[in-house]
Amino acid sequence: APARQGWLDRLKNGLRKTGSNIATVFTGTRIDDDLYEELETALLMADTGVKATEHLLQDLKRRVKEAKATEPAQVKGLLADAIADLLQVLQKPLEIGAHHPTVIMVAGVNGAGKTTSIGKLTKHLADSGLSVLLAAADTFRAAAREQLAVWADRNTVEIVSQEGGDPAAVSFDAVTAGRARARDVVLVDTAGRLPTQQHLMHELGKIKRVVQKAEASAPHEVLLVIDGNTGQNALAQVKAFDDTLGLTGLIVTKLDGTAKGGVLCAIAREKPIPVYFIGVGEKLEDLETFDAREFAQALLS
Ligand code: GDP
Repeated sequence: APARQGWLDRLKNGLRKTGSNIATVFTGTRIDDDLYEELETALLMADTGVKATEHLLQDLKRRVKEAKATEPAQVKGLLADAIADLLQVLQKPLEIGAHHPTVIMVAGVNGAGKTTSIGKLTKHLADSGLSVLLAAADTFRAAAREQLAVWADRNTVEIVSQEGGDPAAVSFDAVTAGRARARDVVLVDTAGRLPTQQHLMHELGKIKRVVQKAEASAPHEVLLVIDGNTGQNALAQVKAFDDTLGLTGLIVTKLDGTAKGGVLCAIAREKPIPVYFIGVGEKLEDLETFDAREFAQALLS
């Protein structure tokens, strides 16, 4: 579809910053140690991380031998295959089950693009015919509640919000309201926080437990929004939030202009949690499902 092509182009343009360093490795004429060394540096610079970089180099050398490749251009194609295979473990769609309401908790550090992603996700769900209720569990920052209300307005969905008050209590109320009003999905927006802020991480655990009290099988999904532009730092966030909350999925934002797109390889190798969506821009429709092969190709284009 043309729409899908449009975002792929945007992803390619965006990842050019990541890819340009990697692609130049293959402009020479020989497949030798220098090529592999340059590739190692380029992958590390793209925030692929030591483990994933080692894995990719080994896998690539095996593929080169097997294919009896003689041209660097062929090696580039084989690298795309190796990256796609590595990323495959992250490719899994978000499925809204039969449970009403399906409760989705969303966490992230400030500025990662959490609120924007919730707005986009709301549109995505509404477009597939699901009724959505938003819960503003960031009771502390007035600006955060207002911003979420704007996204609720744009999508014409309801929002449960409360000034001050306890984030867990607001979440509880929202889940109860979602059930009473027979909504398909309740999206719980939590306040941005750093993994080092222990009391705030503790609060996330409390929100999860209280949501469970409102609905025994909830939360059905616990998502973390990470900024793809923060590379290895994003991987550290995935590990920390997973320890506290038990994540079921990721949304990786800002892939429309990053030099650190290799971080998805690091996540695939070190903490493989499904990437339900990627963010490729600031607009409502700039949310896409993750495709390992397309991403690998975009990375090397
Ligand atoms: P929050 O603090 O995590 O809720 O972050 P926001 O949703 O307020 O987003 C922070 C900034 O990142 C805003 O300027 C957004 O427009 C921008 N942003 C969010 N997602 C994307 C994305 O996928 N691409 C780009 N280019 N910008 C994004």
